[in-house]
Amino acid sequence: MTVFVLGSINLDAVARVDGLPRPGETVAGLSLALFLGGKGANQAVAAARMGAPTRLMGAVGGDDSGKGLKAKLAGYGVQVADVLELEGVPTGQAHVWVANNAENMIVVTAGANAMVTPQQVSATPIEGQRVLLCQLETPPAAVEALFRAGAAKGSLRILNAAPALPQGAALFPLTDILIVNQTELASYAKLDREPTRLEEVSVAARKLMSRPDQTIIVTLGSAGVAAVRRDEAFLVEGRKVKAIDTVGAGDCFCGALAAALASGMDLRDAVEMANAAAALSVQKAGAAPSMPSRREVEAFLE
Ligand code: ADP
Repeated sequence: MTVFVLGSINLDAVARVDGLPRPGETVAGLSLALFLGGKGANQAVAAARMGAPTRLMGAVGGDDSGKGLKAKLAGYGVQVADVLELEGVPTGQAHVWVANNAENMIVVTAGANAMVTPQQVSATPIEGQRVLLCQLETPPAAVEALFRAGAAKGSLRILNAAPALPQGAALFPLTDILIVNQTELASYAKLDREPTRLEEVSVAARKLMSRPDQTIIVTLGSAGVAAVRRDEAFLVEGRKVKAIDTVGAGDCFCGALAAALASGMDLRDAVEMANAAAALSVQKAGAAPSMPSRREVEAFLE
């Protein structure tokens, strides 16, 4: 089975600075590095590295950075024929400033990602794309169009409802597997603190269910992952690793889970595999470059 990702593609520009600038101040950057980013791109790379035939739908600008990011995605094995290049629109960008004391400031401009429309989705055949994976960095109306088309074809619809957006909840009834982290769970379930124990997580997760056949997966950072269904809940403990860079860990988990399910695994085995993949990813710097291959994950699980 194949994985079809609808999601964002960004150029991440990360500048290191001694201290963050105050309003009106100019500071000299110590270094600048450019990366492929965006939740859609990261998750598609994770799924492709895990061995799933992976298609990504989205949009970049008709600029050099858009072309460069598409080429990078293709280099990771992601099929990019459904990534539109929109003339006159900038590619989505994340500008990240990281100070010596690790404080940061981030501005994300959606650019072309905001221009993905339900019409673009409807014009793309999703025949045989059995695992659909979306996030909320592209317009929810486009996600809705894909999930409605997928339901008619019997596809498995996975929503990583990140970042937490009020409009996101309207998509939950169209979703088969919902993935959130603890912060997003607290936001959607309207809790004033993040749940940690499995019991609390289960109660909060069940608040987000709108159908008895749904699964809610909550990623718990180094503590692992909880999976909650109507009648059962289980915890897969986090793998003990030395974390270097946790940026993109959630994206690695989502992409790897979609790939594992597409390869026919049952939910528990797929969660274990994705939990192991994400633990491997935090041991390396960067998002896309840290996504492990299926062989690496299988060796780690032995
Ligand atoms: P997000 O990146 O969305 O904040 P989490 O922090 O919950 O998501 O991380 C996603 C997954 O990555 C976790 O469920 C776990 O499988 C893995 N993970 C994250 N941090 C660690 C860590 N320090 N050690 C081992 N696994 C980790």
